[in-house]
Amino acid sequence: MSKVSSLEDSVQKVPLIGPKYAEKLSKIGVSTVRDLLFHIPFRYKDTSEVITIEELKNEGAGMILAAVDSVSTRRAGRYLIVQASLSDETGTVNAVWFNQPYITKSLKKGGFFMFEGKMRTKKGYSSLSSPAFEKYEEKGKDNQVHLGRITPYYESTAGMSSKWIRSRLNFLKKEIIDLVEDPLPDDLCKKFNLESLPVAIFKIHFPESWEDIESARKRLAFDEFLRLGLKIEKKKLAILRREAPRIVEDGYENKLQDFLKSLKFTLTLDQERAVTDILTDLSKFSPMNRLLNGDVGSGKTIVAVIACYLTVLSGHDALVMAPTTILARQHFSKFSDYLEKFGIKIQLLTSGEILEPTSENEIIIGTHALLHEEFLPEDVGLVVVDEQHRFGVLQREHLLNNKINNGGDDTFSQESVDFQDDKGGRKDDLENDSRADLKMPHYLSMTATPIPRTLTHVLYGDSSVSQIKMMPPGRIPVETHYVPKKKRGNCLKWVADYIYDSKKDSGKADNKAGNVNPPQQAFIIFPLVEESEKIDLKSAVKQFDTLSKGVFKKLNVALVHGRIKQEEKDEILREFKDGKYDVLISTSVVEVGIDIPNATIMVIDDADRFGLAQLHQFRGRVGRNMMQAYCYVIASNNLEKGSQAEERLKYFSSHNSGFEVAEFDLESRGPGEVYGLAQSGIPDLKAADITDIDSLLLAREAAAGLLRTLSGGEIHHLEKGLFS
Ligand code: ADP
Ligand code: MG
Repeated sequence: MSKVSSLEDSVQKVPLIGPKYAEKLSKIGVSTVRDLLFHIPFRYKDTSEVITIEELKNEGAGMILAAVDSVSTRRAGRYLIVQASLSDETGTVNAVWFNQPYITKSLKKGGFFMFEGKMRTKKGYSSLSSPAFEKYEEKGKDNQVHLGRITPYYESTAGMSSKWIRSRLNFLKKEIIDLVEDPLPDDLCKKFNLESLPVAIFKIHFPESWEDIESARKRLAFDEFLRLGLKIEKKKLAILRREAPRIVEDGYENKLQDFLKSLKFTLTLDQERAVTDILTDLSKFSPMNRLLNGDVGSGKTIVAVIACYLTVLSGHDALVMAPTTILARQHFSKFSDYLEKFGIKIQLLTSGEILEPTSENEIIIGTHALLHEEFLPEDVGLVVVDEQHRFGVLQREHLLNNKINNGGDDTFSQESVDFQDDKGGRKDDLENDSRADLKMPHYLSMTATPIPRTLTHVLYGDSSVSQIKMMPPGRIPVETHYVPKKKRGNCLKWVADYIYDSKKDSGKADNKAGNVNPPQQAFIIFPLVEESEKIDLKSAVKQFDTLSKGVFKKLNVALVHGRIKQEEKDEILREFKDGKYDVLISTSVVEVGIDIPNATIMVIDDADRFGLAQLHQFRGRVGRNMMQAYCYVIASNNLEKGSQAEERLKYFSSHNSGFEVAEFDLESRGPGEVYGLAQSGIPDLKAADITDIDSLLLAREAAAGLLRTLSGGEIHHLEKGLFS
């Protein structure tokens, strides 16, 4: 029996965990008994089957139960070798360990032990190489901790092995069921066919079968999804309680038709669907919360323009926030092109500019300067945020609340929902609020990062999502090619000739006909990985030197990288846009925000060092006009033929849709690799599989039910007890 009496106890109450190990455990986020119990194995190995020494020699690996006939230690060069001679009724075998002298302390001559490992042959001499071992417990297999069971393996840090964690957890084995409480009501567990939390925690550490692991995992995954589900459903509830102006009213159809007729194109089916979704949202009194997700160039702007136009027609104002000045300007000029002829007032607000006060309803387009503007109109009906992930959550919600909601509460923000829960009783608070304080505008966010369906449920679970998957007609897809390393030279030569020829041809006489392309331009991207910034920088500079004097010697080449000052970078980019350079060599740190219409070639060196989502972003920088564009992804020296990395590059080369590419990337590398969990808002799930949407949806259903029946305080208590 340990001295542990509660989950909140420090791990130091567990036998044989002192300050030194407590310190190490804290590095993997374990400081209380709860943390230790919630630190679940990342894999298991079945070592419950015992084979004979004869079988071990035949099969090459496995676990034996053997007597130790002798133990000896000798030195061979740099190695200290411990050797043991083992036997059972079928024969003998030698086991060896290198530089682990302490083994002689536990491995005693004459004892019975279990050994698990692989046979290795060296100089014609076979032995069991560094096997794991444990003293055989004659009291029964229940007492085996490391071998002779389904053995769990734990994430650990230097100086702390799975074996160490296993034996510490073993001290708690008999107490787990009493220590852990189930925060979920029994009937909910029954309804969703779930194990209780104490049983699940017991089984995840001490499984007797693979079924035990599966049922435990199912319960723990449910807890993680329920936590997420509660967050999403709370946010949705909070929005439902708010009131937005009704934008779409009788008679809007004619005006919308007139507007659509003024366009030089007809909407794609996906655009039409997105517009219909938005019109439906805007005909309600509860605020819209919708994400418009579509690749670069898929035509999101016009959808936002329509929403803003209707907002102004209905007697309200619309705000559009973009992450950079360049993008805000770009939106301003596009919105003006579409709407000025209908007499709609549009203002641009970037830092340093001031709003012109007006009594008309209008559209205000700006950067985060909007957040600090004191004189925003009172009656904002719609907020559009482009590339919302580039703003902090608080910034976005600030725009939706404080500026607009005449000082009302800010129930919309997740942070504040949680905060209110801490006090308990959010429900009652809300019911006492007057409707006037609950006003908020409709909200439309847009992103050009294609997000796979599966992830939208997690990342944007509280929003509705409209996807624009198809490109407007007439767009020529970028032709993408995978280039093996040995063809790199040919590829660059082809690029140099292509650009050179386009320069020569562009000045030709039949230019009058208007059918000759302007001189074209190329990007060459080199990866830059943070840890080796210096080396990479050197290589970009060196590459610039080699290429500009070599294969590109007849062309004007410029270089930008992360160490160059921002103003200088902007200047080089502007000059590139103006045609002063033919080729821009760049490291990946440089974000090319400006459209370079004549850039038709994108070459990415060592492309396998990038994720597909990033490669797709690079590719999106060419092919902005009606000329055929090309993208070359060159393999690095490390790329193995037939490897998964090569397969990814090949997939990328044959697929143009950002959604397909993102989906493939997610499947082959997992969300952690693809989206870098920390910034992305994807929770770090231990038991649940983030792509298991069916389970997430079930947990959301459960969350909605709990929020209907429990008080804020009870929900808070429940959340604290869930596995996480
Ligand atoms: P993004 O989704 O990247 O914001 P834009 O809205 O800027 O894309 O649209 C890219 C280009 O496609 C614009 O020049 C726009 O005029 C054009 N476009 C948008 N929709 C259509 C369409 N249905 N048919 C033809 N061209 C379109
Ligand atoms: Mg856009």
